[in-house]
This record gives sequence, C-alpha cells and structure tokens, in this order.
Amino acid sequence: MTERDTHRVIPLMDHRPRGLVVPTAAFHPDTRLTASGLMADTRGRALRDLRISVTDRCNFRCNYCMPKEIFDKDYAYLKHTDLLTFEEITRMARVFVAHGVEKIRLTGGEPLLRKNLEQLIEQLAELRTPTGKPLDITLTTNGSLLARKAQSLKDAGLQRVTVSLDGLDDAVFRSMNDVDFPVADVLDGIEAARAAGLGPIKINMVVKRGTNEQEILPMARHFKGSGIVLRFIEYMDVGATNGWRMNEVMPSAEVVQLIKSELPLVQLEPSNLGETAERWGYADALGQHDKAAGEIGVISSVTQAFCGDCNRARLSTEGQLYLCLFAEKGYDLRSLIRGQASDADLQSAVAHIWQGRSDNYSEQRSSMPADQGAPVKRVEMSYIGG
Ligand code: SAM
Ligand code: SF4
Ligand code: SF4
Repeated sequence: MTERDTHRVIPLMDHRPRGLVVPTAAFHPDTRLTASGLMADTRGRALRDLRISVTDRCNFRCNYCMPKEIFDKDYAYLKHTDLLTFEEITRMARVFVAHGVEKIRLTGGEPLLRKNLEQLIEQLAELRTPTGKPLDITLTTNGSLLARKAQSLKDAGLQRVTVSLDGLDDAVFRSMNDVDFPVADVLDGIEAARAAGLGPIKINMVVKRGTNEQEILPMARHFKGSGIVLRFIEYMDVGATNGWRMNEVMPSAEVVQLIKSELPLVQLEPSNLGETAERWGYADALGQHDKAAGEIGVISSVTQAFCGDCNRARLSTEGQLYLCLFAEKGYDLRSLIRGQASDADLQSAVAHIWQGRSDNYSEQRSSMPADQGAPVKRVEMSYIGG
C-alpha cells in the first residue's frame, strides 16, 4: 500500500451533482454593471472568459486529477447523447460572447479525444464580439495527440495552445500520467504546435511536493529562451478524489526562490485584468528583463487567492454552467437549450446567473484549517475542465 493510499478517503458518490435550476426572472440590463458597462456579478466582476469542457474522458490518469482507483474501467462516463453537440456549444458560446466573453478555452478531460473537434473550432472561429473582433480561442491539452493534430487545429482557426507537462524526466512523467506515456511524444507535440504556428505556447506544470519538485529547474532551463512560457501551478484541492493534502503543495514563492537561485528573475506587470499567473522575467546582467530569455508564470491558487478579479465561467461537457472551479453544483443550461428557449431567453438566464454570482472559494480557503480543503461534494476538474 502506498503512502497515498493510506490517507485517501474514497467517497462513494456520483461526482456529477444534479444541476441547479436556472433562474427565470427577466434580466434588467441596468441591474448590475461594471464601470466599463459590462455585466457584473455581486463582487463587481465581469464575465470575460469561458472554459468549455468538450469531453469528460482522458487517456491519462494524472493522480492529482483522475486517479486510477476511481476512474477505472467501471467508471460511468457521460453517454454521447448527454454531451452538448457542437451546434449547442456554439449557440451557448454566442450567448456568452454577447455578454462580454472574449476568450474561449476548450478543455476537458482531454479535449483532443473529442471526435472532429476541428469542426467546433471552425464554428467558434466565426463568432465576433459585439465590437466585431474575433475571439481569442485556445485549448488546454496533455499534448499526447498534438503531434498528429496541431496542423488541422491551426487550419480550423485555433490560435494557440497550453500544454500540460509535469516534468522532463521520462520516469517521473510516466508515473505522473499513470499510463506510462513517454515524455518524448509530448515534446514532439509541442514542436508540432510551434511548427504549425499555434502560439504563443504556454506549458502548465503542476508542482506536487514529494513528486516532481526536482523537475522545476530542468523545466526552467529547458524552456528558457524558447519563446514558450512555462507556468508553475500549485497543486489544488479540486474535485473529491485526489486525496489533496496541504503538505503536498509547494507554494509558488518557493518555486520562484528556487529558480532565482540559479536563473535571476525580475517581476513583471500583469498582462491583463483577470490574469491568473504572476509573471517573472529572466533578468540580464543589469537586472533588467531579458526579453529574448523570456518569462515564467506562477499560479498560486492555494497560497494567494485571486478571486478578486475572477472573470471565468465554465460550461461542463453536458451543458451545466459552473461559476467557480470549486462549485458543488452547476446551472442546467442544457435543459433550456433542448427545450423551447430562444436566444433571448438564454441570454437572460446567463445574465441572471452571473449577476447573482458571489463565489470566492480560494479566499475562503485561506481562512480554513491547513489541511481541510474544499467540501467533498465539489465537482471533478476532468468534468468541468481546468
Ligand atoms: N487534459 C488536459 C490537460 O491536462 O491539459 C485539459 C484538462 S486538465 C483538467 C486542465 C489543467 O488542469 C491541466 O493543466 C492540469 O494540470 C490541471 N490540473 C488538474 N488537476 C489539478 C490539480 N489538482 N491542481 C492543479 N492543477 C490541476
Ligand atoms: Fe487527463 Fe488533463 Fe486530468 Fe491529466 S490533468 S488526467 S491529462 S484531464
Ligand atoms: Fe475564481 Fe472560484 Fe478560483 Fe476564486 S476559487 S479564482 S472564484 S474559480
């Protein structure tokens, strides 16, 4: 029995809670707006970023996300008819764009497992913001199918990708994905994405203390000067199955200190409001940012809550709208879309839901006892997407 097994509590429950009923009261456009005139939630946050999960399946079993013990051959994944179709996703995306969303991230599960994903990207690429701008369309992937798909994704209208990569050492990588997948194939995928012009490429590395912190410096050295932005993510208490413990979180401040000990860094300004990563640039001999050497990011979801400007909503694979990564329930938009709802009804429902939003889980976590984490009913990340 491993150390992980001894302290893991495996709850016997369906990790897809029943949806909340969508409020139906009419939307009054002047009820709650930000200073720039965008629809605001109860904390004054606009809705700018929509993450759409296109599948709840994955070919990896990262133990911090889809541990094998739970996501085994008997796990009940969604049926095909439960998934939103590409037309339904595009229709929902259009509604969100009308409310101010400018960025769409496709995620999952592993989004590249969804058949004909390029067709969805083509449909989304045709959408325009109210001021006529194309959307910023991106995708988060484990990179396993990227070598094969990078060019067709680019041709369909995808602009950039984020690839998850938790280390360069093959043994560490194989054990973290828990399906013995070789790191070389993901590195080939990243090269294919670069060759296809899917940029700027970002790499996400989840740092789990005791598992892959020895990979931090090799990863920093490898991507320095490559034009690729490497981002270190604190291991989070998402979902109810990964047995999260605070002592396995390596605070971003430590990651920055470790890198600085070998590669000097200077802090950079955030690139935009709602930016989740704190940016650090590699410094030159004068202590100035050396742009050719590039930058890294740290995402401190556990040690430094950034709920204050959280402008993200998540649409699950089966059309439930989640207002927070740590939410226990989502709003059932699929039943509206498969009912008689007009686009105006959908728009009104989304406005009503967003304007009632008050979520700030990470801020609340800061005042919880160290090892507590979120309540166990929270939804899985592979279901709503990261
Ligand atoms: N399968 C794709 C991938 O891995 O890139 C997309 C979905 S995955 C849920 C999205 C992101 O969530 C990945 O970068 C992954 O590393 C991150 N993630 C999953 N579980 C996490 C956890 N417990 N803490 C921090 N990040 C996590
Ligand atoms: Fe799959 Fe991504 Fe979760 Fe890993 S993090 S199990 S690749 S969905
Ligand atoms: Fe946003 Fe919820 Fe994360 Fe806070 S905890 S930043 S509200 S997703």
